[in-house]
Amino acid sequence: MIERLKQFEDWARACIHVRCGFCRENCPAYSQLKLDSYAAKGKVTMLHHILKGTLEADAAVAERVFACTNCGLCDVACGYDQSRAIQQMKIALREYGVDIPEGYDRISTRTREMGNPYSADVSEGSEYLRSIPESRKQNAHYTLFLGCTQIYRDREGIALLLRILRSAEIDFQVLNEPVCCGSPAYRVGDESQALEQANSIKDLFAQSQSENVLTSCAGCYRMFSRDYPALLNGPPEFRTIHLTELLKEVVESGGFSLSPLDVTVTYHDPCHLGRHSGLYEEPREILMSIPGLTLVEMEWNRKFAKCCGAGGGFRSGLGEDAIAIAASRVREAEATGATILVTSCPFCLRNLRDGAESIGSGMEILSIESVLARSLER
Ligand code: SF4
Ligand code: SF4
Repeated sequence: MIERLKQFEDWARACIHVRCGFCRENCPAYSQLKLDSYAAKGKVTMLHHILKGTLEADAAVAERVFACTNCGLCDVACGYDQSRAIQQMKIALREYGVDIPEGYDRISTRTREMGNPYSADVSEGSEYLRSIPESRKQNAHYTLFLGCTQIYRDREGIALLLRILRSAEIDFQVLNEPVCCGSPAYRVGDESQALEQANSIKDLFAQSQSENVLTSCAGCYRMFSRDYPALLNGPPEFRTIHLTELLKEVVESGGFSLSPLDVTVTYHDPCHLGRHSGLYEEPREILMSIPGLTLVEMEWNRKFAKCCGAGGGFRSGLGEDAIAIAASRVREAEATGATILVTSCPFCLRNLRDGAESIGSGMEILSIESVLARSLER
């Protein structure tokens, strides 16, 4: 544990001496749970005392540390990469044998035992994937990787996605094995399971000769493009493209014939895609290419965007709090006057929908694919 955390010693010391607390601003864990110990400062203070030997790493520490969506807002506020320190604390606590709160631990156990964080039937998932005509295709330019949330929780979303790719005449094949990218396990500190998933994925892509991997999930995208290079000690032998990057190119080259949509929408930046990967403008350019559509911004957008509350295992660990955080983001969206809240991550989509339902909001929560499909339909 000490070895893993030692690299953050100077940051932690600086933090406890400056006493600024900027990291509390919009931290979803602090905003919802109201105690300083849930903000980055509290977590980093615990790190400092664990290193000094004045705090025992126990279940009470784990309860505070794991209550983090890994949104990265504290990095923006602080200037230090505190979300990375917190991620390493999760890994260190797990390796040290501390009891991990059940909801977070369930994600890791399910991935280990069932191959996905939902405990879903992998053979049924495989059968479903094999029913997609493009799963029998070979040597296509893009390999579409469908993540666990899509396969087991959002098949309507997959149907829309396939329709859009076919309509744009994209040369793609679908990976027909439902293998988790490892992001859910990694975000709850299970580095060894994440590495196992990364190796399985690497082998599958090598077997299917996939050089260009396409994903519409922000979590899978960050995992492949940002986390795999560190986990695998070098960049993987495939390039990862997020759907919004590809669709922006299609839109720019006039590849869609779009009919007017007279709507006002606002866009929620998924943390994995925005703050952690820098893709802010691509989704906005796609939306603005739709004739008649007006895009308005929420008060907190792009690198300052508030988190939906779902990530880092928070939805599994503290479900009602995750939905309350999403509800607050929906309220922010309502204040713009928009009638549709758009996002580009299936996991944000689910949590924002649950948040909207919990407050009886009339706002529609749609994926970017759904909005585009409506414009194609006319
Ligand atoms: S903003 Fe950074 S330095 Fe300031 S209290 Fe938070 S974690 Fe510490
Ligand atoms: S990563 Fe997000 S949830 Fe975690 S401490 Fe930082 S601001 Fe809070």
